[in-house]
Amino acid sequence: AATRRPLIAGNWKMNLNHLEAIALVQKLAFSLDEKQLSDVEVVVLPPYVDIRSVQTLIEGDKLLIGYGAQDLSTHPSGAYTGEVSGGMLAKLGCQYVTVGHSERRQYHQENDELVAGKVRAALANGITPILCVGEGLDVREAGQQVEFTVNQMVAGLDRLDAKQVGQVVIAYEPVWAIGTGRTATPADAQEVIGALRAELATRFGEVADQIRLLYGGSVKSGNIAMIMAEADIDGALVGGASIDAEEFARLCRFP
Ligand code: PEP
Repeated sequence: AATRRPLIAGNWKMNLNHLEAIALVQKLAFSLDEKQLSDVEVVVLPPYVDIRSVQTLIEGDKLLIGYGAQDLSTHPSGAYTGEVSGGMLAKLGCQYVTVGHSERRQYHQENDELVAGKVRAALANGITPILCVGEGLDVREAGQQVEFTVNQMVAGLDRLDAKQVGQVVIAYEPVWAIGTGRTATPADAQEVIGALRAELATRFGEVADQIRLLYGGSVKSGNIAMIMAEADIDGALVGGASIDAEEFARLCRFP
């Protein structure tokens, strides 16, 4: 992972209003120095309604913290009540958007085709999609985690060329480890993430070396260093531990 800059992204899920968002980002920025924020790319992914406030704070104070959204529409505009487009997010300065999070797949019936459309919509608007993939407990118990996750990633990258794939971040998040306190062992995570990189190399060539592959699932300040020690793991997508400023800052100081 030597040439790939580590990325720690905090997925706030449906937590924190815009005032709480400002307080958290201020605290986070105060807890990390310039060197730490250049060694590790730190990104927050608040709910939509917080983004404008986060943008104003980060741009106004020139904070070295990135931000993005948790989802986007496949459509550019129009009669899609409740949806938010990639163009709107780009206008707010979002650099990242998670796509295909397991909670969206599970509670909003997002399938691979829709997820691939969202990946393309993000790229079309100059936003880096963080494509989330990962198996459920049944698949893991059947020993099918590598095959399942590789297939899910390939489906999510449908119709992209190597140059576009080079702009995607992949997050391996085994569903059984999300919000459960049950973390994959670093070796388990490396097994799948290593296989994802190998598949990217087979399909898209050299660009596979530059693509950042994250692990997600109950990452905390106490286990991040161990996870980051694995060869193919370039960062983490963090849920629960990202809405506590002190804990998230500790986590971001892992090196
Ligand atoms: C997530 O939602 O992406 C996640 C990894 O959650 P948690 O860290 O709480 O398991």
